[in-house]
Amino acid sequence: MRIDIITIFPDYFAALDLSLVGKARTRGLLDVAVHDLRGYTDDPHRSVDDAAYGGGPGMVMSPQPWGRALESVAGGAGDAGITAGRGDTAGRGDTAGRGAGAPSAGRAGGAHPDAGRRPRIVFPTPSGVPFTQRLSRELAEQAWLVFCCGRYEGIDRRVLDAWADDEVSLGDYVLAGGEVATLAIVEAVTRLVPGVLGNEESAGDDSFSTGLLEGPVYTRPASFDGRAVPDVLLSGDHAAVHRWRRVQSLLTTAARRPDLLARATLSRDDVAVLEAAGVGVPAEIARRMAQ
Ligand code: SAM
Repeated sequence: MRIDIITIFPDYFAALDLSLVGKARTRGLLDVAVHDLRGYTDDPHRSVDDAAYGGGPGMVMSPQPWGRALESVAGGAGDAGITAGRGDTAGRGDTAGRGAGAPSAGRAGGAHPDAGRRPRIVFPTPSGVPFTQRLSRELAEQAWLVFCCGRYEGIDRRVLDAWADDEVSLGDYVLAGGEVATLAIVEAVTRLVPGVLGNEESAGDDSFSTGLLEGPVYTRPASFDGRAVPDVLLSGDHAAVHRWRRVQSLLTTAARRPDLLARATLSRDDVAVLEAAGVGVPAEIARRMAQ
C-alpha cells in the first residue's frame, strides 16, 4: 500500500518509523511519503493561511497551496509529485523548500508505477463521518491513500469539494490539527493490510471486528497483587476458553456499549447468556431470534 500525507508538520510522522508500521515499511509492505504543504507555496513567507471571509477569529488554510500539493501528489501527474526521499522518515526528504512544480528528485527511471492511477483522498475533519473499524477495513483494501491534514479553522471548502473522497472524524471533539487523526487512521488501517500483523488472526478477534468489544485479557503471573487469573484460562480446555471469551465479550459489550449489541450477529446461545446475566436483549435481536 502506498500512503502520502500532506501536512505543515512533517515531524509529527516520525512515529511512522516505529513499531508495526515502521517494520512494514522496512519489509516493503507500506510505502509512506510525507509532503510539507509549505513546499507548495509561492511567497517568501511560505504562507498557508489567510483571514476567513465573513470575518471572525482564526485563520483558514488557503486553497492555492493545497491545490498545487494535491495536483502534484495525487493528480495523476506521473512521478512529478513524488517527493525526494520518498519513503524516508517523516520530516526528512519531504518537499520543504521546494516550489510548486519543481522537478522531482524521487524514484529514478521513467514514470512512477502509480502514474495514471488515482488515490483515495481522505480529509480528517470533526464534521466528517465517524471513523470505524468498518471504514478502516474498507481503506485497508485500497492500493493508495492520501491524507490531508488541516490546521487553524480548517481548509478552504473548495479544496474538499474538488478533492475529498472521504471526510472522516476521529470523534466528537476538536483536535488542533489533522496530524494526530491521520496517525490514528493510518495505524488502524495499516494493521489490517495483509502481512503487517505478525499473527493474521489477531485482527479478527479485536473489538469491533466481531461487532462486539473484546473481553479482558491476562498474562503471567497467575496471581498479581492478590488478583487471580480466571481458572478457565489455566484449564487447558480450549473449548471452555473459547466459550468464556465469548461470554466476556458479550457482557463487556452489554455493559459498555449496548448500542453495539443491537447491530451484532448473535446466536441463540449468546442471547441466553445475556438473558441469564439479566441484560435486556435488544428488541431487534429478539425479533430476529423469533423468526
Ligand atoms: N473549526 C473546525 C471545526 O470546528 O470543525 C475545527 C478545525 S481544527 C482546530 C483543525 C483541524 O484539525 C481540522 O481541519 C482537522 O484536520 C483536524 N481535526 C480536528 N478535530 C478533528 C476530529 N475530531 N477528527 C478529525 N480531524 C480533526
